[in-house]
Amino acid sequence: MDLGLNGRTAIVCAASKGLGRACAEALAAEGVDLVINARTAETLEKTAEEIAAAHGVKVTPVACDVTAAEGREQVLAACPAPDILINNAGGPPPGDFRDWDREDWVKAVDANMLTPILLIKAVVDGMMERRFGRIVNITSAAVKAPIPILGLSNGARAGLTGFIAGLSRETVRCNVTINGLLPGPFDTDRLKGTLKARAEKEGRSVEDVRAEVSATNPAGRVGDPAEFGQACAWLCGAQSGFITGQNILLDGGAFPGTL
Ligand code: NAP
Repeated sequence: MDLGLNGRTAIVCAASKGLGRACAEALAAEGVDLVINARTAETLEKTAEEIAAAHGVKVTPVACDVTAAEGREQVLAACPAPDILINNAGGPPPGDFRDWDREDWVKAVDANMLTPILLIKAVVDGMMERRFGRIVNITSAAVKAPIPILGLSNGARAGLTGFIAGLSRETVRCNVTINGLLPGPFDTDRLKGTLKARAEKEGRSVEDVRAEVSATNPAGRVGDPAEFGQACAWLCGAQSGFITGQNILLDGGAFPGTL
């Protein structure tokens, strides 16, 4: 299926590894020129070179912290008028809410709620004027079903989701869609960290916890980041202009609800 994206431009945040990288790769395969971001310059530059070489598109790496105002300015300076914006950042640390103070909450809300909102604010009016825009927020399955040790994530991402539910209905008239992609367990560095924290809390080995997470998922495995990237590219496709304000769970069926 041709997604009709050849020659478009995208900003993909937090994209040197994991789910962000997978989204960048899937968009590049559709002929989209990219500005990708992450904090560690060396890893980011290597990723940019690999994606450009594999897909023959222009990939501009911008090494900065996207949760900081200066970082967002750098990313937007490299691509002031993107057709596509993929919002992503590292997830907040796990823990017990009794141990978190105001600063911990402010950090989580800054990274996983306010950063995407501020980036959207910077680009959405231009998208609406140009009559094309696709915005995807990478959130978490925790938006649908809270994960006990990820309270900071549960809270901050739910806030983003609530705000987008309203805005996405205002932009779609101009062919600008805003949707959430909710990852369940995907095989990335972040998952390794979450499994390690759970293993320590429960006094078990990481391998044991990982085997349980795979075995108890209806798919009998964790997700491949490439699967996530493909879903993201499809949601950004020219044909997806009637899908907005949705939160699509990619979790192998782990959430047990009928709807
Ligand atoms: P990952 O494999 O650890 O990759 C994170 C990427 O984000 C790296 O490229 C990292 O590079 C970059 N990054 C982190 N903080 C950043 C910042 N402040 N500014 C710019 N770049 C930043 O993580 P992932 O699994 O892809 O997770 C992506 C998001 O999905 C996270 O928010 C995570 O919580 C969420 N999620 C993941 C899963 C899962 O199973 N994988 C499940 C639910 C939710 P640098 O460190 O160099 O900046």
